[in-house]
Amino acid sequence: MKHDPSRCMRCGACVNVCPSGTLELEEGIIMGDGCVGCLACAAVCPVDAMGCQDEV
Ligand code: SF4
Ligand code: SF4
Repeated sequence: MKHDPSRCMRCGACVNVCPSGTLELEEGIIMGDGCVGCLACAAVCPVDAMGCQDEV
């Protein structure tokens, strides 16, 4: 997964939905190393700040 901090508005939706608890909301989203690639965060993000494309 890739996180785009320039788009993120820190709504916390991705943190709440992540089944592996690898996301943390601090100054921005911090992605830990427990991601299982379920794409749940990308599905809930209102601003498409989470994605799996290299260009995100
Ligand atoms: S893809 Fe799934 S496991 Fe990985 S950070 Fe997003 S919600 Fe969490
Ligand atoms: S759901 Fe999107 S906008 Fe909200 S905190 Fe996560 S990455 Fe940022």
